[in-house]
Amino acid sequence: MSGEWVRTWLRMSAAVVADQAEWLTGLDAAIGDGDHGINLDRGFRRVLATVDDPSAASLGAADLLTAAGRTIMGSVGGASGALYGRALLRAGAAISLRAETGISGPAGPEVVAVGPPGLLPVTAALDAAVDAIATLGRAQRGDKTMLDALVPSVEVLHESAAHGVTLAQALAAAAAAAADGLEATRPLVARRGRASYLGERSAGHLDPGAASAALLIRALADTVPVE
Ligand code: ADP
Ligand code: MG
Repeated sequence: MSGEWVRTWLRMSAAVVADQAEWLTGLDAAIGDGDHGINLDRGFRRVLATVDDPSAASLGAADLLTAAGRTIMGSVGGASGALYGRALLRAGAAISLRAETGISGPAGPEVVAVGPPGLLPVTAALDAAVDAIATLGRAQRGDKTMLDALVPSVEVLHESAAHGVTLAQALAAAAAAAADGLEATRPLVARRGRASYLGERSAGHLDPGAASAALLIRALADTVPVE
């Protein structure tokens, strides 16, 4: 993954989160405490300042992800700050391990054997991110969390390696899977996080973390470098 792609993705993410902050906060108001959009917007504004700082000009993909993870962790309150922060840190570590050794990180077994150039590192980074969230949040797909958008999108990346698609097509399919995963959270009863306190009453609403995760994957697809 190029540093330029990560930088552009972080910028796009900050713009999209700012644009959709009210929507995210509204979703969280329905089944949580109504701070998700506000929290993430604050965090991504800081991320923007971090990546656009002259001292970060020469940073590569791994270091940018690590810097963003630290910033998110230190500035986004709530569960999502810890989860997205850890996810970004682990994604950075996975990329840096790949760069040093040519193999993916401990969280990401070497699962993609073929596929278009660039698919392997982005898949390894997302594998590591998913693994970090699942471990820290003790959550899995179906619990009505951000993982309901992330897991299907990563699965699509794994599958696309065998289908002779371009990187842009693989990422577009991953973004569509994340959007479908978000929609699929609506009937679910939350089993993790604040929404789980509502029990059955959490059903009938989209999960705010799945909504932000779908936005972040869409931003990744929208910034994929032209091959
Ligand atoms: P908080 O619930 O602390 O106010 P946010 O509102 O920022 O944090 O984020 C809420 C989102 O975080 C939820 O919609 C869900 O997607 C995600 N989340 C919360 N707890 C967990 C968990 N244990 N595992 C995975 N994701 C979680
Ligand atoms: Mg909240």
